[in-house]
Amino acid sequence: MNDFTIARRRMVDEQVAARGIRDPRVLSAMLKVPRHKFVPEALASQAYTDYPLPIGEGQTISQPYMVGLMSEALMLAGEETVLEVGTGSGYQAAVLALIADRVFSLERIPELARQARRVLDANGYSKVNIRLTDGTYGWQEMGPFDGILVTAGAPQIPQNYLDQLAVGGRLVIPVGDRISQSLKRVTRTTSDQFQEETLVGCRFVPLIGNHGWQG
Ligand code: SAM
Repeated sequence: MNDFTIARRRMVDEQVAARGIRDPRVLSAMLKVPRHKFVPEALASQAYTDYPLPIGEGQTISQPYMVGLMSEALMLAGEETVLEVGTGSGYQAAVLALIADRVFSLERIPELARQARRVLDANGYSKVNIRLTDGTYGWQEMGPFDGILVTAGAPQIPQNYLDQLAVGGRLVIPVGDRISQSLKRVTRTTSDQFQEETLVGCRFVPLIGNHGWQG
């Protein structure tokens, strides 16, 4: 076992499983995805620490625990079609690729989308579809989605996400102000009914777009 494999095992045991993430498919995906490949080379030695890390363009790769929590909150069995908003480094998308059937991911910053595409392809996650766009519109042509995971903080829940959620599907999204948010899970219980839960407090970079924060 090399050092990164050992660090990854410790990350999953000590930061993710020890804090209550139980879904074996999520834990096994996080044991597989080489997180150090998704951070800037100079930060590879910190890839398995308990923090978000900068990935350029003022953006971050989320803390491992948060990736575990959000992935588990989608309650995926493996056959689902999932939309991620905020591709960033591509790490969360790679985890989703191992626990869902089809993965679509939206990113607004061209350099991040390009870099994520490169790393995902180089590590065997070519099935992730990335589109460069304002993700607050969702991706209507590819929906409805069994899961929608938003990895940037929104001022309120964009109606597009609710419209593009399949009945029985789950939306996981941080909602709050620009500094701190609450992680919400919204389940579409029937075509016109939604159930909302608050999971934890969190801090994400802002969701910037027409149905998010302005600039
Ligand atoms: N999921 C990412 C990962 O695994 O590295 C972390 C994402 S980072 C916390 C949030 C990302 O959301 C940034 O890359 C940011 O550019 C992106 N973002 C913000 N607003 C967006 C929007 N309207 N559409 C698409 N992406 C957006």
